[in-house]
Amino acid sequence: MAQRALPNPYADYDKSLATSYFDAAGRLTPEFSQRLNNKIRELLQQMERGLKSADPHDCTAYTGWAGIALLYLHLYDVYGDPAYLQVAHEYVKKSLSCLTRRSITFLCGDAGPLAVAAVIYHKLQNQKQAADCITRLLHLHKADPRVPDELLYGRMGYLSALIFVNQHLKEEKIPQSHIQQLVLGQVEISARYKELYTGLPGLGVSQVKLHNTVKPSVDYVCQLKFPSGNYPPCIGDTRDLLVHWCHGAPGVIYMLVQAYKVFGEQQYLNDALQCAEVIWKHGLLKKGYGLCHGTAGNAYGFLPSLRSLALQGVM
Ligand SMILES: [Zn+2]
Repeated sequence: MAQRALPNPYADYDKSLATSYFDAAGRLTPEFSQRLNNKIRELLQQMERGLKSADPHDCTAYTGWAGIALLYLHLYDVYGDPAYLQVAHEYVKKSLSCLTRRSITFLCGDAGPLAVAAVIYHKLQNQKQAADCITRLLHLHKADPRVPDELLYGRMGYLSALIFVNQHLKEEKIPQSHIQQLVLGQVEISARYKELYTGLPGLGVSQVKLHNTVKPSVDYVCQLKFPSGNYPPCIGDTRDLLVHWCHGAPGVIYMLVQAYKVFGEQQYLNDALQCAEVIWKHGLLKKGYGLCHGTAGNAYGFLPSLRSLALQGVM
């Protein structure tokens, strides 16, 4: 696996070496915070320069304008600076002006721009525009039945957009009945075909009440684990090569942590921690900084495992 990543030469975490980064309570020190803030500002400028030559017709959250809008929305949530919300608004308008009119998912389709726009308009106190985006989002559902089940291009990706809206607006703007109807259809499909490998982590995240139906599918993914602790990119592929959010342990870890929270079985947490170990040992990906198959996506994989350890009182 080494050629896809820079080998990790670092020793395991040692608290005594981290005192200049974290205080006794585990919070970032002011100096380290300052360094991070400076770096964020610097990287934003670099990104803005790069965007001048970006594809003007890519509306998506995955590689296009809705993703940039989502970044600024997140910065607004973190820093509370209204200037970030204004920039998010500018980018999401760009995104809405060039929708794909093909795909329905959060990442690669029109659900992402509409969901992000709904949240931005809501935060701008423009409830009419927010409601309009939600209505359009709900209509996307009338998709053709050949749509696949997984996250990037399929039904799970649509479902994640609905959940995104409800989570960010902190109220049930998307009726629970609408979400449940979709989920029930999805579970029925998964039980019949067991084919939605990349969709399962998302399914695990969104389904608490349906554990009797979902658990066998989660266990099915669990038994696909390689001896290394990593997971295959799809069913039937026996090559233990990819450690990306989109293919492998950094994506499966979310399902495992959620399964642990829902079903309470220690094995799920053990497997999740093994995923974190796989990511750490794999080293920094050479494919760039992105979330899907880059260093940031793999770093994100550590967060759910850390949270679940904290939940257990281990940390
Ligand atoms: Zn990827």
